[in-house]
Amino acid sequence: MLKKRFIQGVFALSYLKFPLKTLGLSLFVTIALNASAASNSNSSELKQNLSIGLTPQKSLQETFDGWYHSDGTASIISEPNYQSLNFVLSGESQDDSRTLVLIAKDYITQNANKFGLNQKSISELTVTSIRQNSDFSVVRLEQKVNGLSVYGSSIAITINKESKITFVASNTITGIDFDKKMTSNNKSKITKEQAIAIASSYLGFKEIKFNKAELVFYKEQSGNQFETWKVRISPNGGKASDWELLIDSSTGKILRAEDKLRRIEGKGMVYKPDPVTATHHVYGDKGFVDNTDSPTSSNTSQIPKDSPVLTATRSSVTLKDIKLVDGKYILESKYAKCDDTEQPKDNACPAEVKAEFNYTRTNKYFDAVTAFYAIDTFMRYVNETLNVKVMPYQYKTGVNYDPHGLNGEDNSHYSESSGKMAMGQGGVDDSEDSMVVVHELGHGIHDWITHGNAGNTDADGIGEGTGDYLASAYVRDLPENTWKPTDPQYNWVMRWDGHNPFWPGRVSNWNIGRKYPSDVVNTGDSHKSGQYWSSCNLVARDKIGGVAMDKAFLNGLSKTIETTNQVGAAQAIINAAKDMKYTKDQINAIAYAYNTACTYNVKVPVTE
Ligand SMILES: [Zn+2]
Repeated sequence: MLKKRFIQGVFALSYLKFPLKTLGLSLFVTIALNASAASNSNSSELKQNLSIGLTPQKSLQETFDGWYHSDGTASIISEPNYQSLNFVLSGESQDDSRTLVLIAKDYITQNANKFGLNQKSISELTVTSIRQNSDFSVVRLEQKVNGLSVYGSSIAITINKESKITFVASNTITGIDFDKKMTSNNKSKITKEQAIAIASSYLGFKEIKFNKAELVFYKEQSGNQFETWKVRISPNGGKASDWELLIDSSTGKILRAEDKLRRIEGKGMVYKPDPVTATHHVYGDKGFVDNTDSPTSSNTSQIPKDSPVLTATRSSVTLKDIKLVDGKYILESKYAKCDDTEQPKDNACPAEVKAEFNYTRTNKYFDAVTAFYAIDTFMRYVNETLNVKVMPYQYKTGVNYDPHGLNGEDNSHYSESSGKMAMGQGGVDDSEDSMVVVHELGHGIHDWITHGNAGNTDADGIGEGTGDYLASAYVRDLPENTWKPTDPQYNWVMRWDGHNPFWPGRVSNWNIGRKYPSDVVNTGDSHKSGQYWSSCNLVARDKIGGVAMDKAFLNGLSKTIETTNQVGAAQAIINAAKDMKYTKDQINAIAYAYNTACTYNVKVPVTE
């Protein structure tokens, strides 16, 4: 519904043929309301819908001297082999900046056909920058029409010390009709402020962080020429974006819209989710042991060593939207942030010149990458796939984690006061097992979704069970998970860090043969009790599917308070399923898990 309304708003704006001046502000207000209603959805689908006039990149043709566009104009000339006969560089940078331009223009004039430019276009070429490097210089030019920059035009010419052109990168706009009138009526031209308002309304921005607008000449692929406002605009709050729009300066129609935010994609080698799950092994199989000097000791200070097996079992993954800070790539995205906050302060968060984080386990940075991937992937799943919005309330960044914390102990934790999580290194490094990482993240999600009211009493273990449920959910959905529901290992929780000589680990079919509350409550170990909670919910998950159950699970938890026990939370979840309009079959499947496979005896909501 919203989307439909939104499109109508855009339509009205895009085809505005009458002078805006006479309409006053009311038009903008109306459209802004429509647009901002739609902007509540941040789906990538909507973002796709907001793009206008983008054309796919066309393939280039290789020739003897470079690569050319299909219309015959140059894209890259790697061997220009051009020595200017008319102009020679002196070596004096002041004089040379002038000479460089003369050489560049001389070259373009002599090779006008390679650029598809006529005499008029060449005479209007304007230098935008000159960069004088120690060994060569780069002159950049753009096309102009009546003093306006031609949108998309750019030529970069590299000239060496011997006044020779050694490289050219070019994108020229050909076939410009200089005599054709661009705007129907200059008197009705929209103002810069109106152009920014049109852009802002269209994108549904409530508040603008940055804006800039200038008039440019735009030639569509169809050949139509326009004088347009090139508007750059980014929102204050909400999903980060950096839009560029071209708006017809006489009609206000949006001709082109593109989000130009550069998202950095890194690459990394990680355990996905751990060395054994992906290889159908268990801890202790040949080669699948924590390879340290003394492998049976859980000594905290031992450095894991490489082995061919443990190196080969890593997976190559994409690290989405990571940051570039001071020329170095770091493990920080919208959802996860590596930060060495706890002892040992071993500087375990990498900063790399290239966006590549390829380490083996003996490298101290390896754990940071595996943990980052698990946290970022799972937070993305919760916030984007499930559309359950959960972020830390204690700080403004993504989930803050220390890949080596707890002074090295064989344990990990999430701290409610700081909202940060950390993994220890005793026994197997905890960061090497994504189920440990997602379990700790699960404590965070539980805390954030209840705004500081996560229950985790020792008596009931619902908090521990929530971590185990989410960790199992993460691993069961991975294509790398080789275990089938019929394998005992399918129900193992923490298969690399646990189920080994250091620690027995936990299971997710602990409900079998047990009754709530007699076998579950007051066991003296919240982790043990929590297994009932994770197991019962995973029965439901296997029945109705991951996305449906995870959504109901998290939305249900969001309704609980600190003292809510397993039964109370189960009731909240099955009621959430009804609120979310789940089918009778889905609700009955959850009821089967809670009341038949387990003994919570929740009230089953009646569906129409
Ligand atoms: Zn825990």
